[in-house]
Amino acid sequence: MTEAVRERVRTLADGELPAYVYDLGALRAHARHVRDELPAGVELYYAAKANPEPQILSALRDAVTGYEVASGGELAHVRRAVPDAPVAFGGPGKTPAEIAAALEVGVSRFHVESEHELRLLASAVGPGRRADILLRVNLPVELHGVALAMGGRPSPFGLDPAGVDRCLALLAEPDFARLRLRGIHAHLASGLDAAAQLAVAERIVEWAVRLRVPVEEVDTGGGMAVDYADPGARFDWAAFGSGLGRLLRRHPGLRLRIEPGRALTAYCGWYATDVLDVKRSHGEEFAVLRGGTHHLRTPATKGHDQPFTVLPVDDWPYPWPRPAVSGQRATVTGQLCTPKDVLARGVPQAAGLRPGDRVVFALAGAYAWNISHHDFLMHPHPGFHYLDQDVNSSSGIVITQCVARRGRR
Ligand SMILES: *Cc1c(COP(=O)(O)O)cnc(C)c1O
Repeated sequence: MTEAVRERVRTLADGELPAYVYDLGALRAHARHVRDELPAGVELYYAAKANPEPQILSALRDAVTGYEVASGGELAHVRRAVPDAPVAFGGPGKTPAEIAAALEVGVSRFHVESEHELRLLASAVGPGRRADILLRVNLPVELHGVALAMGGRPSPFGLDPAGVDRCLALLAEPDFARLRLRGIHAHLASGLDAAAQLAVAERIVEWAVRLRVPVEEVDTGGGMAVDYADPGARFDWAAFGSGLGRLLRRHPGLRLRIEPGRALTAYCGWYATDVLDVKRSHGEEFAVLRGGTHHLRTPATKGHDQPFTVLPVDDWPYPWPRPAVSGQRATVTGQLCTPKDVLARGVPQAAGLRPGDRVVFALAGAYAWNISHHDFLMHPHPGFHYLDQDVNSSSGIVITQCVARRGRR
């Protein structure tokens, strides 16, 4: 936890919990580090679906080339939050209305998901207009003899290699003259470490440069690993960046693009709350927190224990003895009436937890609030705090600015 976040969580009133606390200074520093490790010739786009909060999008603006969006809603939202930034429009099932809106506002790239979509797009581009496209391919890739979880399997995403061939043939026809093929897009796996990501990127590039038409650019997608079991670990951007540099030297003139989401923003967000109850049930101990997976669904969807830090609170306002986790571990749950509302199962960090103690979950900056089912059971929404630090150069003072917003409900 950063100092700014720890301080903020300590000073929140009980009534202000649960709260999402974002450290925008830490986000900027992390994104700048990622950018600095990538060679010139590699564009960095942020996949907005990981966390589209406007403050997050603008904090990333200096480090990223642009943003990848996957719906008309994300497109309109990103345009409002970072008006001048290039936007790539991907994702399956684009509607004719979304395509028309994207042509209207102007996107830097369309990632075409199917032959039908290519036809829709071609028929929607008006006279005198052009649209720049990448064909999204679902390429079979094996790593160490193991097939990737997404690439090469039946899926609604992208085109089979034979489908790419058919699209290339269509693109040679006069009806498609307003579409400008820039290259290939692929997003084949998530959770890969730097060596595996690089191997996948190499495989995509080697396949793309052998197509019967020249390609200027290849977007190798996102999916860089975030290790929820080890919150201090980071994807090895230096190794990945130098590997991409070698790949570019083998293909002079090629432009590469990557579009990470999770590995950019997971580290800048925390979900802070407090313990409401501690109990023993059939031999196991449970700590019940204010809030739960309707705010932070990540551990339920990924099936992991969300890492957390305990900030003990010694005040105890009641005349009866304070309950506490007495054993070595406990399961940490939320307030929902479903056995799936588990944030961490049987974990040692829960030892000693008491009602009133504060608990701060890390790695809650991506696929957290925005993928959660906020209104299930009608609990209040959390507050949102965006901390920002500026060093005032004349005085050397660190100013922490904070914009707070209370969630709706
Ligand atoms: C979700 C997605 C990403 C980002 O994936 P992360 O695992 O968050 O890095 C990038 N590209 C596409 C096409 C996606 O669908």
